[in-house]
Amino acid sequence: MPQDELFQVADQVVLVSGGTRGIGRALAEGFALRDAKVWITGRQSEAAESAAAGIKTSRYPVRGLGCDVEDGDQIRSAVKTVVSTEGTIDTLLNVAGVNRRQRVETYTDADYDFIVNTNQRGSFLMAQAVGREMLAAKRGGSIINVGSLNTHGPLKAVVPYAMSKNAVVGMTKGLAVEWGPAGIRVNCLDPGFILTDLTQKLWSDPTMQDWGQRNTPLGRLGRPDDLIGAAIFLASPAARFVTGQQLFVDGGFTAGYAWPIPLD
Ligand code: NAP
Repeated sequence: MPQDELFQVADQVVLVSGGTRGIGRALAEGFALRDAKVWITGRQSEAAESAAAGIKTSRYPVRGLGCDVEDGDQIRSAVKTVVSTEGTIDTLLNVAGVNRRQRVETYTDADYDFIVNTNQRGSFLMAQAVGREMLAAKRGGSIINVGSLNTHGPLKAVVPYAMSKNAVVGMTKGLAVEWGPAGIRVNCLDPGFILTDLTQKLWSDPTMQDWGQRNTPLGRLGRPDDLIGAAIFLASPAARFVTGQQLFVDGGFTAGYAWPIPLD
């Protein structure tokens, strides 16, 4: 499709970690339809390949790779595969993430490790592997991590998740400082309430839906494709002087508080 040069991502090599479903899949399609060369990953290679084949695209077919971000070797190998095929990676969308909602007293060590190893350690190892390639290529690049509105203020019953996402924000700022001189921009996209597999059960409750809509100034829950514009912006020349920032895409949820009764 024709594009404003400022927001151009055509011909960029874009790696989407966690692109088989939900937000990652929507972002992969958003970039593919704007002529980027998109690779998506998920834990299973077959699922990743079949998800890639189902993504709408314009110029280049989307490629799928198995890469479990709990395993550093799989991360480094997936990044090598993309770089040896495409020659480079211009943009990383560091999306893969998980959650388990429960009272803090009930988390097992295994629950904690599952959440933190995926969201925090996995995001770090992925950014590190891609950053190494970007540094070696000396062409700069853009890394877009995915945080959460839980970094603004945690919701109840997600303590390890909120901890891991705050770590992702800390990492974003640290990497921006460390890699800025090499022209690598690192930012964090913070989704609000987005309807995906991760949140479907929560939002299937009508009381929850009503609460979410009433407390979101734009009056609705989010869709995965609501994130596309912000991600394109962060990956494009329009954001060439933007690094180390958090961008909330949440319909205004974190802007303030709604009254429970109409006051007008
Ligand atoms: P989702 O629909 O459950 O999709 C999660 C994606 O992550 C899938 O593609 C999954 O792929 C991948 N994934 C999970 N564990 C992985 C692992 N160990 N290795 C590689 N890939 C893995 O979730 P979503 O709602 O789109 O969430 C995407 C990101 O946005 C997460 O970081 C989440 O924390 C964040 N977020 C979501 C919301 C929301 O309201 N939905 C709000 C704030 C932040 P496979 O299953 O194929 O392995």
